[in-house]
Amino acid sequence: MLYTSTRDDTVRVESAAAITMGISAEGGLFVPETVPRLLPDEIARLVGYDYIGRAKAILPRFLTDFTKAEIDDCVEGAYSGGKFSDSRVAPLVELRDGVEILELWKGPTCAFKDMALQLLPRLLTVSAKKTAGGKEIVILVATSGDTGKAALEGFKDVPGTKILVFYPRDGVSPMQKLQMMTQEGSNVGVCGIEGNFDDAQNGVKKIFTDKNAAAKLAGLNRMFSSANSINWGRLVPQIVYYVSAYCDMLAGGRIQAGQKINIVVPTGNFGNILAAWYAKEMGLPVNKLVCASNANNVLTDFIHTGEYNRNRPFYTTVSPSMDILISSNLERLIYALSGRDTQLVRRWMDGLSAGGLYDVGEAVSSKIKEGFAAGFCDDAETKKTIAGTFRKHGYLCDTHTAVGIHVYNRYREMTGDTAPAVIASTANPFKFGAAVLSAFRPLTAKDSDEFELIGELSALTGVNCPGQLINLKDKPVRFDRVCSKGSMEEVVFELARNG
Ligand SMILES: *Cc1c(COP(=O)(O)O)cnc(C)c1O
Repeated sequence: MLYTSTRDDTVRVESAAAITMGISAEGGLFVPETVPRLLPDEIARLVGYDYIGRAKAILPRFLTDFTKAEIDDCVEGAYSGGKFSDSRVAPLVELRDGVEILELWKGPTCAFKDMALQLLPRLLTVSAKKTAGGKEIVILVATSGDTGKAALEGFKDVPGTKILVFYPRDGVSPMQKLQMMTQEGSNVGVCGIEGNFDDAQNGVKKIFTDKNAAAKLAGLNRMFSSANSINWGRLVPQIVYYVSAYCDMLAGGRIQAGQKINIVVPTGNFGNILAAWYAKEMGLPVNKLVCASNANNVLTDFIHTGEYNRNRPFYTTVSPSMDILISSNLERLIYALSGRDTQLVRRWMDGLSAGGLYDVGEAVSSKIKEGFAAGFCDDAETKKTIAGTFRKHGYLCDTHTAVGIHVYNRYREMTGDTAPAVIASTANPFKFGAAVLSAFRPLTAKDSDEFELIGELSALTGVNCPGQLINLKDKPVRFDRVCSKGSMEEVVFELARNG
């Protein structure tokens, strides 16, 4: 299987090259030329496997230039050996009859990004050996919070790599910030920027596509790569857990073979939900993909109208990992639904960078509406959902997951669609402890100690906080630097030159 670019149909590379480069030279995203089929009897066979077995069966379908031993090694390194606190890796929890929560946060940083970022460094190291001619890889990450920490954990002390993470100084939770500022590892760097997530992402994208920067780095025998969710190596591990969830529902007798389910995903950069779309394209029986946004509801409007318009206020919400106005992975979907028309995609993306908007037109828009439903929820509704879900079902969810639950509840009311549903849960509630506690009682200026609030939340709900979050309290801060939007490149080269 070869990969092409959403903006240039003459591009043909193997998966290792797509993963090493991260983004195509002209700025497009790598996409598989065809989507492999997952036949009903294969799904039936996967039911008998555990998570690791399912990953080992699905990944080779996309990574055809990897050997079986390479993939098996990568998968075992990522998901076994106690890295995940639950041996099922991505367990389902029944919320109520026919509605299940897919807990994707059992990894080392307590957010769903671990699912991909424990695997990506391993895929990338194998890929770089195949394609990068011994160059050291410099990973640049722009993060709205969770990617940064998960990437740092995934890459720390991986030989042949360096990693530098930029986060919006005032756009991440105190816990997220502390997780990054205390990061261990000899090949890591962390820097806040004076700006929001889109500024950080644009800055990283600019450095990536800057030919001078690439040449300068090549002179140091190094090359850039990306751990952002635009990297195919981030997306492909995420396809596995949707297939695995379906298999678990079959194994538990909660659905029949071939029965369609709905999948609900709290969405920011459109990566997690795009992975669900790929699973559906492979043949997983899925009815609707429900795209759930917070007050930054650019995707809700897009799915309803076909017009993507980022010219709107940017809100800092209690679900900060979804505070995004440019959902980069959407490019892969509109590429596929436009009939792989690279010229159209280029025009839309040019429109987005020039005027902040594009319109995909009636034909593509109606295909999107066929496959997707969408809704959004503000902070007040998010908190109400956290408290309500705990009272009604005894289940404590984080702010991002609450957005998914709220949007699903409204979807179900409005459509009467009661097909079995899986709601992706993207973070442990204690990762956003203060915000989650504020669903139960108003916070005041006195409530400034995150760890006290977490203790209170735990006492109130009877749910334990994961050890790796509590232990942050006593960890020394290693990185407290902040830079302006304009000086990101300088910071990058400082890191690249060292060591
Ligand atoms: C990253 C993240 C999201 C959004 O995922 P996308 O793939 O960017 O859509 C949602 N919730 C949490 C907790 C996250 O960390």
